[in-house]
Amino acid sequence: MKSIPSINDILAQVSTERLQWYVKKIEGLRHGWENYAALEQKAAFIEDTFKSFHYSVENQEFLYHERTYRNIVATLEGVHQEKERILLGAHYDAAWGSPGADDNGSGVAVLLEVADILSNNKPQRTVQFAAFTLEEPQPQTIHFLIGSETFARESKKSNISYQAVIILESVGYTDDGVGSQIVPILVRIPVSKKGNFLGVIANSRSKSIMEAFHMLSQVHVPELITVPYKVPLSGRFIPETRFSDHASFWDHGYPALMLTDTAMFRNPHYHTSHDRFETLDFHFMTNVTKAVLSFSLKLANDLE
Ligand SMILES: [Zn+2]
Repeated sequence: MKSIPSINDILAQVSTERLQWYVKKIEGLRHGWENYAALEQKAAFIEDTFKSFHYSVENQEFLYHERTYRNIVATLEGVHQEKERILLGAHYDAAWGSPGADDNGSGVAVLLEVADILSNNKPQRTVQFAAFTLEEPQPQTIHFLIGSETFARESKKSNISYQAVIILESVGYTDDGVGSQIVPILVRIPVSKKGNFLGVIANSRSKSIMEAFHMLSQVHVPELITVPYKVPLSGRFIPETRFSDHASFWDHGYPALMLTDTAMFRNPHYHTSHDRFETLDFHFMTNVTKAVLSFSLKLANDLE
């Protein structure tokens, strides 16, 4: 009889080398408007990678200024398909002029690694993996979060419910120096001045999954420092806490978390040509991947 692998056996499968390889493949100019063809190549890479794990993959296409863009969605069907699903997401486009290794090659790399390892499982709940496009601001407009807004709106319309949505947003940059971490002015919790932790950002609706993520991460990946923060009023007065795809899900009433290295509050290369592979901390990313895996396994299987 085949024995069921323990969570620790599964976490041991996380490969730093694969994370590095994914970031190298995603890195490069790929702004949605300025580098349309390059962005499409990255989309094809992500789609092919999901398919190589034997997922059924769907392209959610939509028009933006007469061009077709796509979210790429892979689905791992659960035993009980009527149960609320789990969604993991990361945006794959990058800011204008930036090769976007941290923002958000790092998030996509973790997404792909988790998808690879979970593909051997048959969870109780359905788990979906979404690579979102057009998260970054587009020219001559204030539009951003366009791909995830489309996805969240369509999910709502189709009556799909998610128990938890986990957004991976820039999860690869650390700095152990005192003073390397800054904090938005209205965030009133004690935060370390060392930029070496993972922020776990929730609103009221997602507070309990934030606490579960923090707790599980402490149990299974004690080396990873996680800092949970529940944003008051879904971030209406702290706009910086809405700067990723989780905000689209908040706005449609889904419980969503953002996992983040805090981006511009830590990474001096944020949205510049210097946001490169060489600046990332892959040991940290390996731990983030393990924390996401342990959380996904627990939720998807309703484990106590
Ligand atoms: Zn960005």
